[in-house]
Amino acid sequence: AAGPEGPIQVQRIDAASAAAERDRYALEQDLRGALANGEFELRYQPQIDAASGRVSGAEALLRWRHPERGMVSPTLFIPVLEEAGLIEEVGLWALNAACREARSWHRLGQGPLTVAVNVSAHQLDGADLHSRIKRTLERHSLRAGMLEIELTESAAAADVNRAERLFEGLRGLGIHIAIDDFGTGFSSLSALRVLAFDKIKIDRQFVTEVEARRDSQAICQSVIALARGLGIRVIAEGVEREEEYLWLRRHGCSEFQGYYFSPPLGAPDFQAFVRNPAALRDRLALDARHVQ
Ligand code: C2E
Ligand code: MG
Ligand code: MG
Ligand code: MG
Repeated sequence: AAGPEGPIQVQRIDAASAAAERDRYALEQDLRGALANGEFELRYQPQIDAASGRVSGAEALLRWRHPERGMVSPTLFIPVLEEAGLIEEVGLWALNAACREARSWHRLGQGPLTVAVNVSAHQLDGADLHSRIKRTLERHSLRAGMLEIELTESAAAADVNRAERLFEGLRGLGIHIAIDDFGTGFSSLSALRVLAFDKIKIDRQFVTEVEARRDSQAICQSVIALARGLGIRVIAEGVEREEEYLWLRRHGCSEFQGYYFSPPLGAPDFQAFVRNPAALRDRLALDARHVQ
């Protein structure tokens, strides 16, 4: 039997979910104008190759500068874009902006720099992602090898056949594929065998305090061994602390992304980061003493 508080709780929940629904609707309305109003921008988070001691590229991360709310997190607005059917358009905008920016990195003269662009599962449903990506590369005269497409493990696992076709088409062009948030998506080993990809990104949750957590250590070691066995690359994401970096490096991971090296940066700051290899070397070399 419902206690005296039963109905009140229900009312509270109703009021709270109605408010959340209104907020989501307001967000969706604002998102509809965001592209035309130039409210989106990209940040670039450096990816570090510890073996060569240099920046190997960057992941492009979408930002939305809302006129009143300020910066809104992509974890909040990307699901709304997906549900509202806007992700294809915004995703193409991001791809185009990232390729244009990556083309300008040639001038830096620090060796090739790849750009990684996130693609949502909903974009796989859309009309011919493959030919749109191809045309975007041509528009900016960007070599296909300089572009990496990131798809989460869960998106790949949700529709293996579709992911397989997309991956084959993109790899045929010379574009690299990275599986994002690896270890969180429940993909089967048979799916991993069917899909052809170039890189695994170890999810941050396994990287956090890896030097002190045996469960995370077992998972990271397995993923590193899996990548090695498959002959593909592996990068650790969300590396925040020196201890995490050192542990992973000692256990065979040589690519890193995370606040320990750099947060996502505006385009000019990313270029400045690349132009200053001494700062990166200091950070890597300081650690080299312990790495042995
Ligand atoms: P993701 O692709 O796994 O990107 C990594 C996220 O971790 C980014 O969050 C990044 O800022 C954050 N991060 C990087 N290093 C660290 C670290 O050391 N510590 C911590 N705590 N966080 C770190 P962000 O930028 O908020 O993006 C969140 C997610 O939104 C992304 O996760 C990706 O799934 C999605 N996303 C971002 N941009 C795009 C886009 O252009 N298209 C699509 N479809 N999704 C995007
Ligand atoms: Mg990503
Ligand atoms: Mg990730
Ligand atoms: Mg993530």
